[in-house]
Amino acid sequence: MSSSQRIYCNHNLLLESINLVGFDMDYTLSFYKQEALNTLLIKLATEKLIAKNYPKAIGSLHYDQALAIRGLVIDKRLGNVFKLDQHGRASIVMHGLTTLSKKERHRLYGVRRIQLSSSRYHWIDTLFSLPEVIMYLVLIDFFKDNNKHSFYQQLCVDIRESLDESHKDGTFKSVICNDMTKYIERDDNLCSMIETMHQSNKKLFLLTNSLFPYTNALMNYLLDTMDMPWHDYFDFIVVGADKPRFFTKKKPFDVVDSGMGENFKHCGSQLSSSVIYQGGNLYDFEKMTGYQGGEILYIGDHIYDDMLLLKKRHTWRTAMVIQELDEEQNKSRQLQKQFLNMEYMAREIRDIVYQIEHQSKKDNDVAKINALKNKLEHLNQKMKTTQDYINRSYNVYWGSLFRANSKNSYFSTQLHAYADLYTCRVSNFSSPSYSFYTDRKKMPHEDE
Ligand code: IMP
Ligand code: MG
Repeated sequence: MSSSQRIYCNHNLLLESINLVGFDMDYTLSFYKQEALNTLLIKLATEKLIAKNYPKAIGSLHYDQALAIRGLVIDKRLGNVFKLDQHGRASIVMHGLTTLSKKERHRLYGVRRIQLSSSRYHWIDTLFSLPEVIMYLVLIDFFKDNNKHSFYQQLCVDIRESLDESHKDGTFKSVICNDMTKYIERDDNLCSMIETMHQSNKKLFLLTNSLFPYTNALMNYLLDTMDMPWHDYFDFIVVGADKPRFFTKKKPFDVVDSGMGENFKHCGSQLSSSVIYQGGNLYDFEKMTGYQGGEILYIGDHIYDDMLLLKKRHTWRTAMVIQELDEEQNKSRQLQKQFLNMEYMAREIRDIVYQIEHQSKKDNDVAKINALKNKLEHLNQKMKTTQDYINRSYNVYWGSLFRANSKNSYFSTQLHAYADLYTCRVSNFSSPSYSFYTDRKKMPHEDE
């Protein structure tokens, strides 16, 4: 099986024991062509900024798409964007189009854990938000003479609002619906995966933040070769779910009038498969469907909206679809030689450090020790050059989504904590009773 078909396991999960499987829609059932989507959202948002009196020139700047990956953080106070390592420390920092030196990074952020919950920071953890980072960096650079904290803060708010409006006022969705082939990636195996799941003894549900008209348009496009209308494959459908609040608040379910009239309150004690619901909450969902906790698997793409609260507050099982995974794995394969070199060098470095210690204790031969130290410095430099080459091969500014140099990235740490499974596309879930096991990790003392 090729890596692009594999599902990776963070925590053991037996699909046999799952009775209800839920799907998010955007970036889970439907993939966007990211470059086209970034270009569209940047265009719509800059138009809105210009309408708010930003200079017309921002409409014709070059917005380099490589400037953003997921997992970055905007620091609204200092006008910076940074990537976090596994310990939650800033590992790469950009101000506008300039990457800050290590010294400058340490001066600004030290080696402390960044408190992401502070309103000073804005974490980018969905692919919908990449345009936000691209625009922030390009516009900080464009307005470089305006270096007040209040401007940095305001720019972030204005960009956020412009993108938010583009989603909410229908402009973004009407462009997508008018040219689905330009913006939506088709997955040839999606229909057969849904049919296989549907024929297994599991129930299926759709739980999306998108509202009904867009959900209907997108699902019709994605599943147009199916034998039945798309909604007949799902036992429960919830649109406009307002995740992550769906998982914590007690909003009631409304019934969607698919004839596009007014929604009305759902009064029954059960959810029906022939009705489309809007809003709602997890507590009523469990009561009204009769399924709960660990017998439910939810597949989504967004760490915060789809995964985190299901793990922190509840016991639903989770799987994350990571659109970037396939490309990252292709790059890693091309870098095999460099990874191997890094391993050799790391081993050699450990060996030299040991020799230096040994020499100092034995006869303290200064000439020998200095020669070893020179070798060590040379190797450290070579490691750094190789690591830089590896980083730049993934993304010229930020390196790999999953790594921060030799450590894991914060994104990886979150993925490991909150997603039981992960894969690059949802159609890989084609075996409804597969058992996923991860190697039991021993505690270091258990090897004794
Ligand atoms: P889901 O992933 O299927 O739950 O739905 C994501 C929905 O959120 C889509 O309809 C997006 O248009 C919408 N969305 C993404 N980003 C924003 C935003 O910044 N403001 C408002 N809606 C957004
Ligand atoms: Mg989504």
